[in-house]
Amino acid sequence: GLDAKFAAGQPAPQDLWEMDRRHALHPWTNFGSFEKDGALVIARGEGCYLWDAEGRRYLDAVGGLWCTNLGLGRKDMAQAIADQAERLAFSNTFVDVTNEPSARLAAKLASLAPGDLNRVHFTTGGSTAVDTAARLVWYYQSCRGQRQKTDLVAREHSYHGSTYLSQSVGKRPGDRVEEFRYMEAGIHHLSVPNPYRRPEGMSEEAFCDFLVAEFEDLIARVGADRIGGFFAEPIQASGGVIVPPKGYLRRMWEICRRHDILFIADEVVTAFGRLGHWFASEDVFEVIPDVITCAKGLTSGYQPLGAMIFSDRIWEVMAEGGERWFTSGLTYAGHPVACAAGLKTIEIIENEGLLANAAEVGDYFLERLQGLEALPLVGQVRGQRLMVCVENVGNKDSKEPLPDGANESKRISDAAEAMGLMVRPIGHLNVMSPPLVITKPQVDFVAETLEKAIRKVTDELVREGYR
Ligand code: PMP
Repeated sequence: GLDAKFAAGQPAPQDLWEMDRRHALHPWTNFGSFEKDGALVIARGEGCYLWDAEGRRYLDAVGGLWCTNLGLGRKDMAQAIADQAERLAFSNTFVDVTNEPSARLAAKLASLAPGDLNRVHFTTGGSTAVDTAARLVWYYQSCRGQRQKTDLVAREHSYHGSTYLSQSVGKRPGDRVEEFRYMEAGIHHLSVPNPYRRPEGMSEEAFCDFLVAEFEDLIARVGADRIGGFFAEPIQASGGVIVPPKGYLRRMWEICRRHDILFIADEVVTAFGRLGHWFASEDVFEVIPDVITCAKGLTSGYQPLGAMIFSDRIWEVMAEGGERWFTSGLTYAGHPVACAAGLKTIEIIENEGLLANAAEVGDYFLERLQGLEALPLVGQVRGQRLMVCVENVGNKDSKEPLPDGANESKRISDAAEAMGLMVRPIGHLNVMSPPLVITKPQVDFVAETLEKAIRKVTDELVREGYR
């Protein structure tokens, strides 16, 4: 049986599939299809490519999960991780202890972050960075004597993580299930700034005005003295690669400044090169946030690590008066091996000019994929540089989605997978965020293969009467 094979240390691909199917609970799994189909077992990665346990190769246009920015299989990364594991695999960073990689990475992040964002608190990933940022809002406002200024504002269709608090700040429709509970009190959600789905007949400028007015109205209704922080992904990632209307983020930031509301940029996806910059807030959107949350590309997925980077001004308010405790922190905060991976990632991005590559090849990537808008199934291809999605529709004029039963995005991803390409299905979208090292010929492969997959599924949908 399986146990004997496992003990022998040589499980065959089919055995791995079966062990997983019998014993693992995967995030966001559909129980029905998982019982039947199990999971694809990935065995190896190099650059933009993955190999499954059967030896089939895929170009990973998903980049892990928006995170393998350097590409996989780098010996220098493995070496940096191994060296640190040998020297000091663990030491906590609670209260008044630190370690070399954690101190150096904090200083490095301060040097890369915009404005006076010179203070760093490490976490285990993006969710825990967002959780901590919510607490930072409460803590900071309380220290200023604003104990009521605790409400948080975010947007519909945002994704900020999977812990209780970060999932309550986020609000992707499909994530809110009746089996779970969410923090409702003191969290407000504004409209999603999705220009493609703006009201019929409204210009993009008028849509931006509407969104800004909605925030001002909320502040007038709730009271500026009750709102402590505003959370925004510069480009909403898993909520649908939503690039907001021009000027939107800057105007939302100005409102925050006017009302002493902290602006938290959730750059878990957009930082470390995905848009061709270390951070997108200032370089792309002309906003200097009070707090930046980041993870993913920070270590390029080689180790789990997140960080909350915040301003000297916040630090000074919190530190004033002395006798206080920031009673929030995780065992693996400032983990030396993870921080060593972060330092090495940043060094490689610098030495190999990967921001410039992401900018150049990223512009080509978006342009190339936008060619798919000619297909009858594709309503819009949108995004920026190496963060792109294809939105499928049932009707290009009305932009009406296909019925859920069509399941077209998952089928397109499955068809692409059979042709050696990984793209990620989310709702009616196929989402892509390839490594920063992707080349133009690889981009061509992505565009050509995705087109074939969409055409194949479109033909099937026609036969099934969906179109
Ligand atoms: N914020 C954003 C914008 C994200 O995209 C994600 C993850 N997809 C998170 C937070 C949560 O990060 P993690 O899964 O590392 O906890």
